[in-house]
Amino acid sequence: MMQVLRRVAAVRPSGASSRNNKWLFGEGSKFAGRSAVSCHCCASSSSSRSGDAQAAGRVRPELTALRYKVERGPYAELGQRDESFFRSLLGEDRVITEPDECDSYNIDWLRSVRGLFRIVLKPKNTDEVSTIMSYCNEKRLAVCPQSGNTGLVGGSVPVFDEVVLSMKLMNRIIDTDPLAGVLVCESGCVLQTLDEHLNKHGMLMPLDLGAKGSCLIGGNVSTNAGGLRLLRYGNLHGNILGLEAVLASGKVIDCLNTLKKDNTGYHLKHLFVGSEGTLGVVTKVAIQCPSLPKAVNVAFLGMNSWDSVMKTYRLAKSELSEILSACEIIDRKSVENARDTLGLRSPLASEHEYYVLIETSGSEARHDDEKVSAFLEKAMSDGVVDDGTVTSEPSKVRNIWELRERMSESQTAEGYLFKYDISLPLQDYYSIVPAVRERLKDCNVRFVTGFGHVGDGNLHLQINTPDFDQTVHDMLEPWVFDYTSKRRGSISAEHGIGFKKAKYLHYSKDGSAIELMRTIKATMDPNGILNPYKVVC
Ligand SMILES: Cc1cc2nc3c(=O)[nH]c(=O)nc-3n(C[C@H](O)[C@H](O)[C@H](O)COP(=O)(O)OP(=O)(O)OC[C@H]3O[C@@H](n4cnc5c(N)ncnc54)[C@H](O)[C@@H]3O)c2cc1C
Repeated sequence: MMQVLRRVAAVRPSGASSRNNKWLFGEGSKFAGRSAVSCHCCASSSSSRSGDAQAAGRVRPELTALRYKVERGPYAELGQRDESFFRSLLGEDRVITEPDECDSYNIDWLRSVRGLFRIVLKPKNTDEVSTIMSYCNEKRLAVCPQSGNTGLVGGSVPVFDEVVLSMKLMNRIIDTDPLAGVLVCESGCVLQTLDEHLNKHGMLMPLDLGAKGSCLIGGNVSTNAGGLRLLRYGNLHGNILGLEAVLASGKVIDCLNTLKKDNTGYHLKHLFVGSEGTLGVVTKVAIQCPSLPKAVNVAFLGMNSWDSVMKTYRLAKSELSEILSACEIIDRKSVENARDTLGLRSPLASEHEYYVLIETSGSEARHDDEKVSAFLEKAMSDGVVDDGTVTSEPSKVRNIWELRERMSESQTAEGYLFKYDISLPLQDYYSIVPAVRERLKDCNVRFVTGFGHVGDGNLHLQINTPDFDQTVHDMLEPWVFDYTSKRRGSISAEHGIGFKKAKYLHYSKDGSAIELMRTIKATMDPNGILNPYKVVC
């Protein structure tokens, strides 16, 4: 909650008056009397969003190797000599071998995979990363790079006894250039910390996600994280200007370019963006950062048909165009679940099949107000939207965003979550949710929901069962990937492939592309020590 508050507060220049409680719909309008009085969604406690907090106090998942029947690769086992080498390099404090401390490095945020923890190393600079990688390569010790451990595809924790390379201590901000709009930092900086730092310089990070208080920029780059601002600012392949990475051999690759234009041969940075720690360890990044908006509006709209969702999005694109910064969808079951588990409330008193959250960000409040009003009046008069509310008041903006950002948390509060992050063409976007409900109607399922970044065609399909259920798993996989592939969608819109989707890669990538991926992997990491069992295997 605080994270969102800071984000929203920061878009308002100090001293600027808050256009308080701007509920646009007056008496007599279609919206009046339903949501125009107050926002109801403020009943929640603050969100931890931390992988460690999520991991606390719950049953440990079965070992990945057993649940998924994986065979250990031909890697060396960590010995006393290796441990001594790491201790002499990093000191006692930055080498963790205590089993008590292991769960937060060994179990993922979803509590769906668990490795066989042996050691965690915490380098403080690129030289140390390079020395560790060179040693591990020579000794054939497998390595799992880890940042905030908020990844959702089992990529950030070991499958067996890989050495965990935690990037948390590489957290220096190196340079901030407001004129060029460029930030250079080490890869272990927390996303939210960077955003707050940039806000003070009149800029913001081009990406924003619910895990921002825990995830690190190196993890974001390595997963090519999408999130809530992608509709406006694009993905990290566009926003990462340059980076530094350490190869499996320990060789440091310096591509830390800060220029927006640099057409000098192969754009090697792209190999590391989204390769999920399989090609190198990202140690520094240069990021293109947009200016901080001076005016932000958030509308929360209720409607009862998918056709209305599509018409709303189309209208938002045409009426709001350059100020549209987010378009998210949440279905009825998701909102009910957030209310029941976290006490979060919809700002609308009425209930609907679908809720659409629209955010605008611009530089001139009056101009944006006029556009937002025109959009909402049209949506209303065309009968597309059944109910809605809009605000620019920071606390209300924060509460509405909280409902969306804590969806994953609310759905993991109990039971086991099967989580699919798919892209589908908009005409098919939601169709998979009722299809899955029908398919699982005789199984022991607590709920099936759909929500996501509809503006990017990215749906989060979530199925909750009391515990991990092999029958449900087998009903869903590969069926979900097949359904998605037949509609020319992607089996991973933004979370990556990691461990859990590696064997399904062919549903979204042609054999020729997978073959080239394997060739690149073999060239850059001939001994296959970097994040084995993930992405291409
Ligand atoms: C509540 C919640 C909301 C989320 N919302 C979104 C969302 O909107 N959009 C989205 O895209 N994702 C989302 N995620 C998923 C996750 O937060 C992202 O994938 C994030 O980018 C992972 O960052 P991390 O620092 O936690 O990385 P980790 O989880 O630690 O690692 C992710 C992967 O990157 C590799 N890696 C990590 N650091 C490095 C490095 N320095 N060099 C090389 N490889 C590395 C790891 O080996 C692993 O394969 C969400 C997760 C949660 C829990």
